[in-house]
Amino acid sequence: MDPSHRPLLLFDHDGVIADSFEVFCAGFLEGCRHAGFARIATPEDVVDLFDGNVYERMRALGAGEEQIREAVGRSAQALQMGAAAVRPFPLMPEVLGELSDARRLVVVSSNTAAVVEGFLRRYTIGGVAEIAGAEAGQSKVDKIRALLERFPGDETVWYVGDTAGDMREARLAGVTPVGVAWGWHDPQRLAAAGAERIAETPADLLAIVAPELRADFLGVD
Ligand SMILES: [Mg+2]
Repeated sequence: MDPSHRPLLLFDHDGVIADSFEVFCAGFLEGCRHAGFARIATPEDVVDLFDGNVYERMRALGAGEEQIREAVGRSAQALQMGAAAVRPFPLMPEVLGELSDARRLVVVSSNTAAVVEGFLRRYTIGGVAEIAGAEAGQSKVDKIRALLERFPGDETVWYVGDTAGDMREARLAGVTPVGVAWGWHDPQRLAAAGAERIAETPADLLAIVAPELRADFLGVD
């Protein structure tokens, strides 16, 4: 194998890298209120949407396209306006930096690429090769499959996510989901949705997706 080859490694953004739930949720609920979509009225309702693909769950609950646009648009706006209140989870910038030499890091998110890019820039988090955001499509399954077509041949491709919906979409796309314990859904919910492994901490995540780098990161020989 080409020694410069970097295997693909896929990440969700919100709840994995960015601690954004409060800001996202406030904007999303405001959008639902504004669009007259009463089925989503509490933070728990928002959390439950992430059991599957958010857009599909909204439609299943009876939301029209305009209402979905309003909710998604307001949450994106809230994340832009409230960017200073959204911080990285401790140690995730360091873990991404460590991984980026050895892996092709791609963020696959239902958030907009602009929000993700702004966040990475604000916290000088380097090493992300590309972002497949909301503009690239609503389905993470489709976005992941497109990446596998462009970068074929890796034995195991991990998708790092924090919701049951992430675990399900990763499985459908043919990659291996790893759930993080610090995100929007708890480990039991992630395991029930098909998580292959659960990372309790960012160091744990590094050990799962790139075991050969673990010793470096922990500073042991
Ligand atoms: Mg997430």
